[in-house]
Amino acid sequence: MNKKRVAALVKELIQEIGEDPAREGLLKTPERVADAYAFLTSGYRTSARRVINNAMFNAEANNMVLLKNVEVYSLCEHHMLPFFGACHIGYIPRKKVLGVSKLARIVDCYSRRLQIQERLTAQIAHDIMDAINPEGVGVVMECRHLCMIMRGVEKQDSVMVTSSVLGSFHNDTSTRSEFLSLVGK
Ligand code: ZN
Repeated sequence: MNKKRVAALVKELIQEIGEDPAREGLLKTPERVADAYAFLTSGYRTSARRVINNAMFNAEANNMVLLKNVEVYSLCEHHMLPFFGACHIGYIPRKKVLGVSKLARIVDCYSRRLQIQERLTAQIAHDIMDAINPEGVGVVMECRHLCMIMRGVEKQDSVMVTSSVLGSFHNDTSTRSEFLSLVGK
């Protein structure tokens, strides 16, 4: 990302919304915004596959692995405003498991982009499926979207819930039920 170019664009944006980019409090804002966007969109410059490949372990167990309440911070692609909440990931390994911290990094890799929550949820599930070929994967995500909350007073408490279930989590009703009851759905 060209931070200088982004800072120049932010300066123009500040002007167009009716502010004075030369005002003292705003002088360094374009550079700060450019830095913030570099971080918030760093997923475009990160390979989830590389994250995963370094952290696969052999395992014999074929019980459900569940990681709850992974924090999610992303930007909606319609308004470039934040949406944030929690993600719950479950899978039943066949031969390989993933390091727990890597699951969280997969979430970061896809959430630090312009996203819609539905696609973000599916990308995480598919990535785990492709990487370790488990019996099944389930991802549930619960987020609040500032584009809804800030713009509509009646929508303050709305939480969007999305899910993506693959393999046995999709085909086997009892596996899916076990997963959903473990995540509290
Ligand atoms: Zn939005």
